[in-house]
Amino acid sequence: MSTSPTKDLLYDAIVVGSGPAGCSAALFLARAGHYVLLIDKAKFPREKVCGDAVSGKSIGVLRRLHLLDKLEAPAHGVITGLKMVSPNGKQVMVPFPNADGMQCAGYCLRRKSTDAILYSAAKSEPNITLLDNFTVLALERDANGRVCGVSGCDADRATAAPPISKARTFRSRVVIGADGAGSAIVRLLGLPGVPPEHQFMAVRGYWRDVAGLSDHIELFFIDQVLPGYLWVFPMGDGTANVGLGILNSDIKKRPEHPNKILLNAIANHPMLSARFANAKQEGQIGAWIIPNGSYARTNFGDGWVLVGDAASLVDPFSGEGVGNALSSGQFAAQTIDEALGKESGEEPLSAQSLAPYSALVESQLRPEIKTSYNLQQASRSRFLLNMFIGKAASKPAFRQMIIDMLGSDEAKQQVKDPLFYLKLLLP
Ligand SMILES: Cc1cc2nc3c(=O)[nH]c(=O)nc-3n(C[C@H](O)[C@H](O)[C@H](O)COP(=O)(O)OP(=O)(O)OC[C@H]3O[C@@H](n4cnc5c(N)ncnc54)[C@H](O)[C@@H]3O)c2cc1C
Repeated sequence: MSTSPTKDLLYDAIVVGSGPAGCSAALFLARAGHYVLLIDKAKFPREKVCGDAVSGKSIGVLRRLHLLDKLEAPAHGVITGLKMVSPNGKQVMVPFPNADGMQCAGYCLRRKSTDAILYSAAKSEPNITLLDNFTVLALERDANGRVCGVSGCDADRATAAPPISKARTFRSRVVIGADGAGSAIVRLLGLPGVPPEHQFMAVRGYWRDVAGLSDHIELFFIDQVLPGYLWVFPMGDGTANVGLGILNSDIKKRPEHPNKILLNAIANHPMLSARFANAKQEGQIGAWIIPNGSYARTNFGDGWVLVGDAASLVDPFSGEGVGNALSSGQFAAQTIDEALGKESGEEPLSAQSLAPYSALVESQLRPEIKTSYNLQQASRSRFLLNMFIGKAASKPAFRQMIIDMLGSDEAKQQVKDPLFYLKLLLP
């Protein structure tokens, strides 16, 4: 057990950001007996722009955190499969494999609820000190340049004109950057931003009374949005989360705002306009950046690690990031737990003892990310999309191959094999 920070004001870890990545890291560390300061600039519960899909990977980590039963309390959609629509209007429905120990593949649950469940768990952990409404503005460094803490101020003062008053400093043996896309920690470390070809611009809104919702999430690869995709996710409360994801490098080439592209598609695509004829939009459309794992950034150094979106770990095909955020939080906690055991004292943890975190990301998350990047590149082709979805719609054997691909990363590797494209072309 580490020394209580109430005595010497040195935390084992400071986590910046109380989203899924930060809460996961804080919970695993606290439950291993370490003292954590968990900071967020927002007051919880807070909104987060998201598609709200909770995948099998997320469910696995939430189970390890003993939080799975809490997910089922708020209204939620139960997901058992995927529907895909091609540019030429063909559609196919494929079942997802069930998540471990579940009767379904995943859920759709408002992020405000998912994140509140994680935040409440952190709040009830005696080893975690929570600091809300506090914006981290600077990293503290020791005489050797190693990160040894953070400083900042109340969130409402952070936006005021400098000099910023009431700055406070906190010290720790490691700082975990879990502050999402556009991370301040990444900037303060002097690391480059994610290039536009490795990040999605994504927008989403909620519509009530969309006709024909089912227990399938729906992806539309239609001309209005290519080379991006449009999603319709059933929320289980009479609403659908409807959104659009498109690479930032592609959206920069289009004159319309992504909100307009989404609204135009809903109003004009024949398979959507009929279903949205009596639907009512609720609230505003929100937009945010999705940093994809196809950009591999440095994610550790002397006294620091990056997790979740700050580490650019989102699946580059599906845009799913919560699962990798939760998993990376767990890997960081596991590594820091071991490093604290090896390096006693008050010095920042060395890059050498934090390096196993990066190795875990590479071995556990990167292979799937690489395959998804290949899928993303293939899905830029209208021709391939028509062939792929058309063939899956008409040929049960090909459909089975997709089901296998959804279930196993090994089967997914087929997209790298030229024979796969030959099979696609054969009748
Ligand atoms: C439109 C859209 C749709 C998406 N759909 C899905 C989906 O359906 N399923 C899925 O799994 N993923 C989806 N994602 C991706 C997912 O939202 C992210 O991958 C996920 O939120 C990453 O979690 P995180 O904890 O790393 O960051 P976040 O959830 O962004 O949390 C970061 C936290 O850091 C805090 N913070 C930021 N800066 C500071 C600072 N300076 N000081 C203190 N605190 C700070 C913020 O207030 C925030 O609470 C979607 C993303 C978008 C934009």
